[in-house]
Amino acid sequence: MSESTFALLRDVRAAHKQSTDEMARRQRERLADIVAHARTHSPYYREHYRGLPDRITDPQLLPITSKAELMPRFDEWTTDPAVTHAAVQTFVQNPALVGEKFMNRYTVTTTSGTTGVPGIFLADQRALAVTASLSTRMLGSWLTTKDVARIAVRGGRIAMVIATGGHFASATAGAALRKNRLRRNRIGMFGVHTPLPEMVEALNTFRPAILAPYASMGALLATEQQAGRLHIDPALVILSAEGLATSEYDRISTAFDAKVRQGYAANECPFLSYSCRHGWLHVNSDWAILEPVDSDFQPVPPGQRSHTTLLTNLANHTQPILRYNLGDAVLVQPDPCPCGDPLPAIQVQGRTAELLTFPTPDGGTTVIAPLALSLTLERLPGVELFQVVQTTPTDLSIRLRSTPGADPERVWQTVHTEIRRLLTDHDLGHVVVSRTAEPPQQTSGGKYRVVIPK
Ligand SMILES: [Zn+2]
Repeated sequence: MSESTFALLRDVRAAHKQSTDEMARRQRERLADIVAHARTHSPYYREHYRGLPDRITDPQLLPITSKAELMPRFDEWTTDPAVTHAAVQTFVQNPALVGEKFMNRYTVTTTSGTTGVPGIFLADQRALAVTASLSTRMLGSWLTTKDVARIAVRGGRIAMVIATGGHFASATAGAALRKNRLRRNRIGMFGVHTPLPEMVEALNTFRPAILAPYASMGALLATEQQAGRLHIDPALVILSAEGLATSEYDRISTAFDAKVRQGYAANECPFLSYSCRHGWLHVNSDWAILEPVDSDFQPVPPGQRSHTTLLTNLANHTQPILRYNLGDAVLVQPDPCPCGDPLPAIQVQGRTAELLTFPTPDGGTTVIAPLALSLTLERLPGVELFQVVQTTPTDLSIRLRSTPGADPERVWQTVHTEIRRLLTDHDLGHVVVSRTAEPPQQTSGGKYRVVIPK
């Protein structure tokens, strides 16, 4: 561990124990630093911040940005002139480089996301060190000494159910972890595309102490555990990606007799928040600023649902995310959280995973998590945006937008083949997949739902 990592770890621990004033002071200083860095080294921000005061400690002085605004100006946005869109594209298009660092310095993740604009996000060494320190703080807040002992008794094995084969955040993390010899035997990677019976068998053999699936996959695995097909004994279940209905968290906790916790994050800020035992998400506000705003980008007071949220990542100097429209509606807890954590607590609205349920020929049902579909389609060349609409229990209609220059007919053939393959793997060969001329449609908040179940 380098000295700076030690210093960061000490700082994040101290910040958590100190007053909210101390936290606000850190936030102001880091904002001033990152804004100064951005306007010096990023041509985009230099242009946009012209005329602003020399030292910025109040985020509300900054103009608003978004992925749609920044991605087309990628080369001017980044602060390292060597980090160009063309160079990063070449890097991410090489499957052999998944989990490697771009220019030996940056981790790269890509997303088509739900806003309709493909995104490429880099994290520099500093951002990675901050992420690691905040992960340690998060685990410290989740685990009691008894939990740690329980995990140790179970061999400390962690099962991650992840997307494989692309530059998704989890695939990148997974590939990096696999290269780490010390951790290799402790961490099991289970591809999100694996048919459920196979995954159940593999998890039964692996016997994880910590289970870390996507939320919707966690719900499916809890059903398997309740049915007695899966019989694992994790001490902690960490859910990621989507949200679930409140009752689902309790059901998963009961099914595994384990603590269930989750994070809410984004490629733009992987360390954004973590949940507490009362189900609130605490924002790591020493390293991130989250501003809930209405449709005119005016502040929304605590206790009221916002229209969207503006994110400022205080750790990433290479690709500054400053007052960036995240598109998620949140509600800030107006009172101190009953768990005692002093960090601001939020709930995220409208991130609930929508599971597709299909009837099987033998009279049962099979459920597919939306992530299995979206991860299958996002990695296909030529796919810009898609939406899967379940029009009848056994009919899927695909709304598709191909990238400019791609042959829409060819893109559709590939999409069709891949969805058919996924369905067949899940014994759902009888489900009909067709294409519609309708383009993908947005919600009133401007997001694209990946899946619209019947
Ligand atoms: Zn709390």
